[in-house]
Amino acid sequence: LFVAGDLSAGAEAVLSPGQAHYLRNVMRQAPGAGVRLFNGRDGEWLAELRQLGKRDGRAAVTTRLRPQPAEPDLWLLFAPIKRGPLELLVQKATELGAARLQPAVSRFTDAARINVERLQSIATEAAEQCERLSVPLIAPAAPLSRLLDDWPADRSLLFCDERGGPPLAGQLETPGPARPAAILVGPEGGFADDERDRLLAQPCVRPVSLGPRTLRAETAAIAALALWQALAGDGRPGAPGLASPRGIR
Ligand code: SAH
Repeated sequence: LFVAGDLSAGAEAVLSPGQAHYLRNVMRQAPGAGVRLFNGRDGEWLAELRQLGKRDGRAAVTTRLRPQPAEPDLWLLFAPIKRGPLELLVQKATELGAARLQPAVSRFTDAARINVERLQSIATEAAEQCERLSVPLIAPAAPLSRLLDDWPADRSLLFCDERGGPPLAGQLETPGPARPAAILVGPEGGFADDERDRLLAQPCVRPVSLGPRTLRAETAAIAALALWQALAGDGRPGAPGLASPRGIR
């Protein structure tokens, strides 16, 4: 379970109402049971449940099970899409190890607003479920043009372009751990011509194709993240495995 506070031997962790409900009513746990905690900084810790109420819970932190692993520095930029596909995208991008999810508003973006808080809680649950030890940050939505104006020079931007480009797989033959990167996926309406021209003129942008079919935005994001992780990220051949056994079940 994700907790915000510091984790160290002897610390007390405070569990949210949702986590207390999950432990009591779904997992049928009681004080004395073990629970694994992470906060994105201190690795994974074993803790003993001390109190489990309707509104919250408390656990005593005992032993570190895993150090905090280094994770690929991969961002996903996506145009806000309809709620169902957007929530799926956030859940899957978390499972696939994106470090930051950045909504990027472009001309043909059709969803007016997004609920960053709700998306952050979907990301937290997905991180807990897949046992990664960090939760990706959901950044506030920003216009694509502003994101490009402020783009960090050392971060490559793989622009998923359904109008063509070299296949993504061929663009990632980097031996060793990947450098900072980002993947950009557009809205259902695609990008306007001038947005595309602007992207292609930017030095760190590389247009890439995901094949001859026009994918839905959420499919394109999932496919691109999976490919990147398999070829350049923590799923590539030679990537370090789990730092230690996963501890208790
Ligand atoms: N412009 C299209 C649909 C866009 S699909 C139309 O209306 O016909 C939504 C987004 O998914 C695109 O902006 C692109 O980023 C990504 N995408 C979809 N299929 C793709 C492919 N085959 N290769 C690369 N990117 C793709």
